[in-house]
Amino acid sequence: MKICAVVLAAGQGKRMNAEVAKQYLLLKEKPVLFYSLYAFEQSQVDDIVLVVGEGEAEYCQREIVDKYQFSKVRAIVQGGKERYHSVAAGLKACEECDIVLIHDGARPFVNRQIIQNAVDGVRQYRACVVGMPVKDTIKIATTDGYIESTPNRSTVWMVQTPQAFFYDLIAPAYEKLLAQEDKLKEQGVNITDDAMVAEHFTGQKVKIVEGSYQNIKITTPEDLKTAEAFLDKKR
Ligand code: C5P
Repeated sequence: MKICAVVLAAGQGKRMNAEVAKQYLLLKEKPVLFYSLYAFEQSQVDDIVLVVGEGEAEYCQREIVDKYQFSKVRAIVQGGKERYHSVAAGLKACEECDIVLIHDGARPFVNRQIIQNAVDGVRQYRACVVGMPVKDTIKIATTDGYIESTPNRSTVWMVQTPQAFFYDLIAPAYEKLLAQEDKLKEQGVNITDDAMVAEHFTGQKVKIVEGSYQNIKITTPEDLKTAEAFLDKKR
């Protein structure tokens, strides 16, 4: 079975308040994006499709793919406005595959074990995400910040990436999403991960398999400090 990874690096990272998008910021002298590409390069994944922002393909090819000799990167494609546009562009570029792992390039601590868990999970359940139980109590609040309800903590998970699917399940689901994008927006549905696309547009149940508390997404400047501390510990 052919396994493809779609690695997303087309976000602008507005919450980082930096000139450079978060996936290109340096973490111990290497761009954040280097680390997740390295993990997939070392894994059982056959091909990697890298999704980048407008006008960044050449830079990524030269400064990341060629420089670090990532031989599994088969295509670098341009992403879109929302994360799901970028995923849809990535899926189009890996049509030959059976299984696809969709990963945020801004999560540098994905590793061989997490990728293995995702691959085992998708083979068994057809659709899975990696995630961890939340440690804090989570509240559902109104838009003006008043608590509305408190879900039972033992049922609440933080969901990470990779999110893994059979290609013939997720690709048509993304096509449906793009066709109904305006309607969903009107309904106030904000698609923030791939499992949501499977939940909305297929009858497939999505399994949660084990990720890691270190598999953080670099979103704000303090995340970069945490990431450096994780790397120091590894050395
Ligand atoms: O914005 P968010 O933190 O959810 O981004 C998660 C991942 O999706 C990041 O790696 C980011 O580069 C990517 N992304 C993308 N295209 C977008 C928005 C986000 O590839 N339009």
